[in-house]
Amino acid sequence: MQHRGNLFVVSAPSGAGKTSLCKAVIDILPNLRHSVSHTTRSPRTGEVDGQDYHFVSNAQFDAMVADGAFVEWALVHGNRYGTAVASLEQVRDAGCDLLLEIDCQGAAQLKERCPDAIFIFILPPSLQELESRLKGRQTDTPEVIAQRLLNARDEMREMFWYDYLVINDEFDLASQQLQAILLASGCRTEVLKAQVQVLFEELDL
Ligand code: 5GP
Repeated sequence: MQHRGNLFVVSAPSGAGKTSLCKAVIDILPNLRHSVSHTTRSPRTGEVDGQDYHFVSNAQFDAMVADGAFVEWALVHGNRYGTAVASLEQVRDAGCDLLLEIDCQGAAQLKERCPDAIFIFILPPSLQELESRLKGRQTDTPEVIAQRLLNARDEMREMFWYDYLVINDEFDLASQQLQAILLASGCRTEVLKAQVQVLFEELDL
C-alpha cells in the first residue's frame, strides 16, 4: 500500500523567519516538498511564476474559488492567497510530505478540512526583536512596519491552537527543532500503521 505523505502547516508573523526556516528543512529532508500557492499579488523582483507562487489575476482566482479548487484561501495584506486541492493531493498521493507556509486564517480552514495535518507556529523571541528584524530588512516604510507589528500581535493570539511552537531565537536551533517536529510526526503510530500492515499480519494482530 502506497504511504500517503504527511501534511505540515506552518504559520508565523511577518519577520519571524518562517521562509528561511522552511527552506532550511526542505533542503535537508529529501521527502519534503514545498507547496506553491496561488496569489493575486504581483511578483516581487526575482520571484518566478510556478516556483514561488502561481501568480493569477483576480478573475482567475474568482473562477478557482467558484470551482471549489482551493482547500483553503484567505485575504492577506490586501491580496488573496490559496492552496489548490489538486497540488496538495497529488504530492501526498505520491507519498511525499508537503509543507504549507500559510497565514492563520488559511490554517484554521485546514484544521477543519484536514484533521490529520500537523500545525506549527513560528515565533520571534520577543516583539522588540521582531521590530528590529523588520527594520533591519530595510525593505518596508515605517508605516508598513507599524502595520506588520500590529498584525503580528493578532496573529500571535492564534498560536495556542497549533500543535507545536518553534521560537526562532537562534536560527540553527530553531531549524533543528522544526526538523525534529517533522521527523517525529512522521513516526507516529497512527501514521505508520498502514505502512507496517505486513508486519502486523505476520504477527497475527
Ligand atoms: P508574501 O506575499 O509575503 O509571500 O506572503 C504574505 C502572507 O501570505 C504570508 O503570511 C504567507 O504565509 C501567506 N500565504 C502564502 N501563501 C498562502 C496560501 O496559500 N494561503 C494562505 N492562507 N496564506 C498564504
